[in-house]
Amino acid sequence: MKKRDSLNRLERSRTVKCKWFNVCPMKRFSEEGKVEVGWLKKYCWGKWEKCVRFQMEERGEYHPDSMLPDGNVDEKLS
Ligand code: SF4
Repeated sequence: MKKRDSLNRLERSRTVKCKWFNVCPMKRFSEEGKVEVGWLKKYCWGKWEKCVRFQMEERGEYHPDSMLPDGNVDEKLS
């Protein structure tokens, strides 16, 4: 719970986010402590246009929930 509270605080402090953030599995995985918050800082609250998930979503291409923003698939997340 403590980790989630600090994540929520951090999230509120970010006013600009990727438009997919609220429905992206990376949000849920970070809340569950399954992925490092650094992914969110670097991509979701930073350069989301560099995120492979974002790029594929924009093109309407399938990508698994377990795909990280750098395009690698983490089987532990499926
Ligand atoms: S992981 Fe990528 S698509 Fe998902 S919210 Fe972050 S930047 Fe957007």
